[in-house]
Amino acid sequence: MSTLILDGKALAQKTEQKLRDRVAALKTKFDGQTPILATLLVGDDPASATYVKMKGNACRRIGMQSLPVELPSTTTTSQLLAKIAELNNNPNVHGILLQHPVPAQIDERSCFDAISLSKDVDGVTCLGFGRMAMGESAYGCATPKGIMRLLEAYDIALTGKHAVVVGRSPILGKPMAAMMLNANATVTICHSKTQQLAEHIRRADIIVGAVGQPEFIKSAWIKDSAVVVDAGYHPGGVGDIEMTPLIDRVAAYTPVPGGVGPMTINTLIAQTVESAEQKIG
Ligand code: NAP
Repeated sequence: MSTLILDGKALAQKTEQKLRDRVAALKTKFDGQTPILATLLVGDDPASATYVKMKGNACRRIGMQSLPVELPSTTTTSQLLAKIAELNNNPNVHGILLQHPVPAQIDERSCFDAISLSKDVDGVTCLGFGRMAMGESAYGCATPKGIMRLLEAYDIALTGKHAVVVGRSPILGKPMAAMMLNANATVTICHSKTQQLAEHIRRADIIVGAVGQPEFIKSAWIKDSAVVVDAGYHPGGVGDIEMTPLIDRVAAYTPVPGGVGPMTINTLIAQTVESAEQKIG
């Protein structure tokens, strides 16, 4: 069978061109006003610093600005909350990204939830999640929303399909499951306490790996002609799913790298542009 590669990198590049045009149109129409994404990085985790840098670069590629805010690893919850309040009140900021994870002494949930709904372009607040899950308007959580956009771009039908999401984190597994349910899939959510994981995965028409362990999901558990989405990225260029043996026998798969990752950043900047259009326009 011919296998479809769900090329997130190519789709993100294509979408960036359209976003660039929208940013240029805003600037022309509204006296040079530019969408701004504030990026909050707390502490000195090198991977987080890299992700924030990549997000800033994506902003620049489409002609919008990022406002990088870096706070020391000793930052307290109240100091971070004060900074978020300042950004909420800054009319020039259209979106706020708080890079996950924050240092252990910080109450991350309180800080996520302090972000104004209208600036929650990374889709991390409980309010945004609840609204999204109920089918009300809200910015989607960037990684699962990016996966949904990727599936849509490749005309992957979800209605009536059995989707199995492995992982239930607030930023990935849970919103992913809710989005797929809203798209009329029948959804199974698996996690570390799930029994007979392989049996659940064998029934998946669409499998999403969001576990955080390299090649944890074995190719033998995945049926022929499934659609395989791998959110993981680990040293050596592998994801959470053992992908190589699947390449010739599944219907579609996301490459690692170049599948889910670029769509996460692309969704973040697309939602910031949308927020800016609403606020400026
Ligand atoms: P996380 O917060 O660590 O969550 C991992 C999830 O996997 C948890 O729900 C956990 O279950 C589940 N799990 C752990 N061991 C398991 C097992 N033995 N069997 C079944 N489930 C198990 O991770 P995350 O932030 O959601 O990230 C997941 C993956 O996506 C990682 O590889 C991460 O790097 C990647 N990611 C990629 C992007 C991107 O932009 N590409 C963005 C975010 C994350 P419990 O809830 O029971 O502990």
